[in-house]
Amino acid sequence: DMLNTTFSRSISATISLFLVLFLNATVAQAARDYQRVVDEAYEKFKDLKDGANANYIPILDTVPSDLFGVVIATRDGKIYSAGEIKYEFSIQSVSKPFTASLVMAQQGPKVIREKIGVEPTGLPFNSRLAVEIYDSRSVNPSVNAGAIAAVSLVQADSEKDRWKKVSDNISAYAGRDLKVLEEVYNSEYETAWGNRAIANLLYNYERLYSDPEEALRVYTRQCSIGINTKDLAIMGATLANEGVNPVTGKKVLDSEHIPELLAIMAATGFYDESGEWMYSAGLPSKTGVGGGIVAVIPGDFAIATFSPRLNPAGNSVRGMKAIQHIAAELGVGLYGPNTRE
Ligand code: GLN
Repeated sequence: DMLNTTFSRSISATISLFLVLFLNATVAQAARDYQRVVDEAYEKFKDLKDGANANYIPILDTVPSDLFGVVIATRDGKIYSAGEIKYEFSIQSVSKPFTASLVMAQQGPKVIREKIGVEPTGLPFNSRLAVEIYDSRSVNPSVNAGAIAAVSLVQADSEKDRWKKVSDNISAYAGRDLKVLEEVYNSEYETAWGNRAIANLLYNYERLYSDPEEALRVYTRQCSIGINTKDLAIMGATLANEGVNPVTGKKVLDSEHIPELLAIMAATGFYDESGEWMYSAGLPSKTGVGGGIVAVIPGDFAIATFSPRLNPAGNSVRGMKAIQHIAAELGVGLYGPNTRE
């Protein structure tokens, strides 16, 4: 009799354990309805026409403005998408933290702090004034000055080797062999007088670590790499997955460097709109004038968007709204769930 009771107790304990596990899984599933939130974000903002394509790089003005893609990639490599996920747009400034990560991988995070800087500028991404008023000159890796400095810091034997290291690194984050959009490169390099001025100014202040024109060329090629929205989500998911690309399984960055890299993105990823972005979305992210944005939920997943129309700070209008919507819906944010939109 005694035995029987113990037996039936353990049976019912086992059954309730399974019930709890099952319910938990169901709740977790409901809380993480990635496809629903991606679809919602797409539907909600697809008709929004605020902002304008970047046109200071002439060819960017010819990218069809209505294109819109929203993708989530999880740390276990699952993809959820809505809208345009195949169109290749230029990565532009979204490339910047990834090249900063290459410098970290080669020389450690201290070099970023000492030879570039990690403070926000409070000024536009292409500011020459920032180079003059801040002692660090390059200020941080997310603005043009700091990104050109990062390219110059990549340890390489030649310009060809510098380019190979930069492009191989970004391809490893995306998990496929990415190519330069040559038309974008030509359009940007032919008109790169402002960035050339920045490279030369940095060199003048001994804050550029290679030949300035070489750094400018490699930086411009880096910005002209073609990616689609799905590539960008996988790049972010690699950061969410402690530096291991969840699709290829390849380790791209040592997990110990992820906190510093994400901190740079949080503090500076939206330039002079970084405070507003952390206030409203609470996610380390990076934008680019090609219309891309990637946002990272550390240890969890990434959201990528593509939409060419930008606000005056150079950040994609629909992309920002889509990411804010998804973050609020899923209750994710660096400092806790953020319900603001
Ligand atoms: N390649 C662009 C530039 O140097 C990158 C700017 C951006 O995306 N914010 O101006």
